Amino acid sequence: MAGPIQYLPCLRPGLRLVPAAQAGEHSVVRADGKAVRMPNRFVALLLLCDGTRAAREIAERASVGGGEVAAELVVKLAEQMAAHEVVDLVPRVREVETWGEPRHACQTCGASCEHHLIGPLPAERVAQITRDHARLAEHVPRLRHQPPLMPMPDGEGEALAVIDGRCVFLGDDRLCLLHGHFGAQAKPLTCQTFPIASVEAEGEIRVGVQPSCYTLHRTFREGPRVTAEALSEGDLGYRTPASSVALPALGRSIAATPMEEEATLLGWLAEPDLTLAELFARVAGAPPARPPRVALPLDKAEALHRLLVGVARGRVAEMAAHRAPTVHHGHTWAMFSALAALEAVAPDLTLPPPHRAFVMFAIGQGVFVRETGRLPAPRLGALVLALGALVAVQVAPPGQEEEISDGFAQAMIAWNRRFVVGVAFAELFAGPEAIEALLGGWR
Ligand code: SF4
Repeated sequence: MAGPIQYLPCLRPGLRLVPAAQAGEHSVVRADGKAVRMPNRFVALLLLCDGTRAAREIAERASVGGGEVAAELVVKLAEQMAAHEVVDLVPRVREVETWGEPRHACQTCGASCEHHLIGPLPAERVAQITRDHARLAEHVPRLRHQPPLMPMPDGEGEALAVIDGRCVFLGDDRLCLLHGHFGAQAKPLTCQTFPIASVEAEGEIRVGVQPSCYTLHRTFREGPRVTAEALSEGDLGYRTPASSVALPALGRSIAATPMEEEATLLGWLAEPDLTLAELFARVAGAPPARPPRVALPLDKAEALHRLLVGVARGRVAEMAAHRAPTVHHGHTWAMFSALAALEAVAPDLTLPPPHRAFVMFAIGQGVFVRETGRLPAPRLGALVLALGALVAVQVAPPGQEEEISDGFAQAMIAWNRRFVVGVAFAELFAGPEAIEALLGGWR
């Protein structure tokens, strides 16, 4: 498959560097004798422009040994030097890997613009959004009293303002005001591409769909194929996997290396007859069963229920405090209410084929694009996503219809947003004993 084009800065041959006599600007003298001046701090960056590295790689290399260098700075330098004919921008087509034929079409539901922090934003985006907000306020009176930005919770940078749980730019028609007035590129990059994700994983470019979209289930089978071209052209702004949240060292069940574990998981998830019960057992370390398991043993299910009910009871009060009439919180509330009411009854985990396919697709995409990267092992990420499917069975039991109900899918996605994308899992399962208790039930 043709991939995105990246531009690799490469110094032109025949250049000569003339150092500044004293503190000041160096000059690069071109083969035609013309001198181009540049600040001293750019020289080291320029020397890394050899046509083999993209801006991000140059920035990473230059940051080794202290003094963080932003990739955006390298991009700006490369563009300026290209304009002065000091640097060539060599196009490189990168191959893109996908898993499980990802498909998606945005339903413009606006649900992801609620209860979600978009930030920290780059400085140029902050300036552009501030300007656009002022222009929008001439047409949208409420914006005159609502600031466009707010500080990140850790004080590091700024995010889009969230007011009453909604992004300040989410219109009454649930469409984005920035997009509507100024075009898609006026939105932060996250908003432009969500839920399509591109990640760089051990040198491989992966493109897939994040299982954080509340309407993913509507188009995952027949929607347009997700390709690199579906993202913006040029540098895709690859995300590096989120850093792990602090969890103590895991027990013996998490033994394989992350890469092996990830490959094994993705292989299982591609099996056409993998059941949810079978996935739980294998994630817990049990050998594959043929035919695949279709239900959890009752005593094991009881252990799970006790755990989930404990989770639910511990969180209901907190969730109630944040309850809002939105898809996200409405469903999260429903999830916890349903769990709190659970008795020790083994859940029926035989999902109808469309639901099974959706669950495995969502888990596989989450593992593939490393949405589970906050958790310290891929297997744990798959486990937490699978628990979301179990919760969805409780909240909105799937019927035998072909259609996947919004209630089922959104419960699973709401769980994912809270426990995988958020850090709540680390709070709930704060040590290896809790995780082992959960996994041990299925071995
Ligand atoms: S900027 Fe637009 S797309 Fe992004 S969260 Fe706000 S309303 Fe949604």
